[in-house]
Amino acid sequence: MSDTIEKIKCLIIGSGPAGYTAAIYAARANMNPVLYQGMQPGGQLTTTNEVENFPGYVDGVTGPEMMVQLQKQAERFGADIRDGWATKVDFSGGIHKVWINDAIELHCETVIISTGASAKYLGLASEQHYLQMGGGVSACAVCDGFFYRNQEVVIVGAGDSACEEAHYLSKLCKKVTMLVRSEKFRASKIMEERVRKTENIEILLNHDTVEVLGDGQVVEAIKVLNKTTNETYDIPATGFFVAIGHKPNTDIFKEYLTLDETGYIINTPGTSKTNIEGVFVAGDAADHVYRQAITAAGTGCMAALDAERYLAAKE
Ligand SMILES: Cc1cc2nc3c(=O)[nH]c(=O)nc-3n(C[C@H](O)[C@H](O)[C@H](O)COP(=O)(O)OP(=O)(O)OC[C@H]3O[C@@H](n4cnc5c(N)ncnc54)[C@H](O)[C@@H]3O)c2cc1C
Repeated sequence: MSDTIEKIKCLIIGSGPAGYTAAIYAARANMNPVLYQGMQPGGQLTTTNEVENFPGYVDGVTGPEMMVQLQKQAERFGADIRDGWATKVDFSGGIHKVWINDAIELHCETVIISTGASAKYLGLASEQHYLQMGGGVSACAVCDGFFYRNQEVVIVGAGDSACEEAHYLSKLCKKVTMLVRSEKFRASKIMEERVRKTENIEILLNHDTVEVLGDGQVVEAIKVLNKTTNETYDIPATGFFVAIGHKPNTDIFKEYLTLDETGYIINTPGTSKTNIEGVFVAGDAADHVYRQAITAAGTGCMAALDAERYLAAKE
């Protein structure tokens, strides 16, 4: 453990839209925020080329470009942006302790957690190839569905989110084929009924994804296995949506914070407050519903304001 302990008024963990927005507000409120970027500086948006739905960018923007601008905006007001990864916390006392890279010990008056969530993928080499290329694999229908208007797409998943996303896509796309790995949905009956009743959604139960096929640049079809007949065949598609869940990056907090069964941090509704005073949450780490950059940024703002008011009340 460390020899020196640094005292921090407002620590922000994570550098996605939630973290940087919190840093902008906290810096402008003279809270001297320190932000640790983690393993993925800029967060999830650094893995996408086209962001068309963040207000203010008339012609869209690439994810990495947008995140560099958010970082610069936070630095302009004096936010201290650092490399490093929060590896351990102790929220048992009045001062919140956080360790960075298992070495640096921080004693914080307030902590804003904005560690995001990671989409789960199938793990197929071809899936990862087209994901990296930005060539037709996505884990976010709301983000990317628009690019597949009037086209045929395949979605894999069987839960409520998968049904929600399939239904969303059905309004934009010519045809949506939904692959369900087992013989039944995991979704609630009402969500299952909604996709079953949608004319341009074809549901294939007991089907596995074998491979994402394409010309090396873009997706052209999905090879699937019908496990009932043992037959393998190709479904033409320009988009492949993976809706098999997300994993919130919240493991290090679970000893102290109230999480739901998937690991999302539970906040007091309408605020960024967690069950520990002085510890706030923003962005996808607490949001399994919207999962958008703008909602992450909005809750980042809320967390900084909540932290500022908490400190003011203690004075
Ligand atoms: C491919 C893709 C495309 C998308 N496209 C869009 C789009 O077009 N429009 C849109 O609105 N949304 C889009 N999204 C969703 C959007 O990216 C997320 O909703 C948003 O990034 C969530 O922001 P966040 O700040 O909560 O967390 P994230 O962006 O997930 O960032 C989390 C941050 O926390 C850090 N971190 C994690 N653990 C630790 C730790 N222990 N210590 C320190 N740091 C840590 C990470 O390094 C990262 O910087 C897309 C997502 C993906 C994956």
